[in-house]
Amino acid sequence: MPQPLLVPPGDACLLKDFDPGYHENLEREAAEAETRKHCEKLDELAYRLFAEAKRAVVIVLQGIDTSGKDGTIRMLAGGISPQCLDVASFKAPSDLELSHDFLWRVHAKVPAHGRIGIFNRSHYEDVVVVRVRKLVDKEVWQDRYAQINAFEKLLHEGRLTFVKCFLHISREEQRKRLEDRLKDPKKQWKLGPADLDDRELWDDFTAAYEDAITKCNTPEAPWHIVPANKKWYRNLVVARIARATLERLDPHFPPFDPTLLSRLS
Ligand code: AMP
Ligand code: MG
Repeated sequence: MPQPLLVPPGDACLLKDFDPGYHENLEREAAEAETRKHCEKLDELAYRLFAEAKRAVVIVLQGIDTSGKDGTIRMLAGGISPQCLDVASFKAPSDLELSHDFLWRVHAKVPAHGRIGIFNRSHYEDVVVVRVRKLVDKEVWQDRYAQINAFEKLLHEGRLTFVKCFLHISREEQRKRLEDRLKDPKKQWKLGPADLDDRELWDDFTAAYEDAITKCNTPEAPWHIVPANKKWYRNLVVARIARATLERLDPHFPPFDPTLLSRLS
């Protein structure tokens, strides 16, 4: 992947340094064929992770509205057997969730050993939308970066691997996608006036994401900036990252016991 996808930990993330339209000059068909190969391999690796049952992976998907979180999940879920997969979507918190600390509902959805979790939004909403929409005081969200780093370190030490992906689209691309949805009776339901208000706050969301990526970009849980203007290239990049992560973990089947067969009556 020639365009760097990672921000070196400690460096400030400036999203304008990452081209959301980047696609390696690949053609769609070639990219889709490569994605299918990664998905086949992912299925095998996920099955080994499931059999081993000692470690877990969570793929965190963040991005502005219409950045392609649902489509990315469709791609990953098409590749991995459902018995190995847990998908969790984080919406505006309920009264019960709000009566706990902000990580409570997230911790409850962390995948068990052996499983791959996909987070459609995550605890990062608590330093992004919550900050932009001024849902809590600045002193509260400012402390959350350190709390998130401590939380992710705890989970990492509990043998969970984080794969954090920011799906990066341009403002023009978002306009096209919103227009598409607004015109289509099968898609308009996904949108409400709040989504159009959020678009007005594009610069504030960008600043909040840049801060979150900069402050919560640790060696144990780094951020990947995924060029996402082209849906097929976004899928390819996420499939590559997921496969590389599982290959690094190299999960093993439990030891084979040759004596068991002789006990078969
Ligand atoms: P969607 O992903 O389109 O179904 O929308 C979910 C909505 O929930 C988005 O507008 C998010 O910004 C919002 N949301 C998710 N988590 C939080 C949170 N912790 N606090 C406030 N809003 C949130
Ligand atoms: Mg929305």
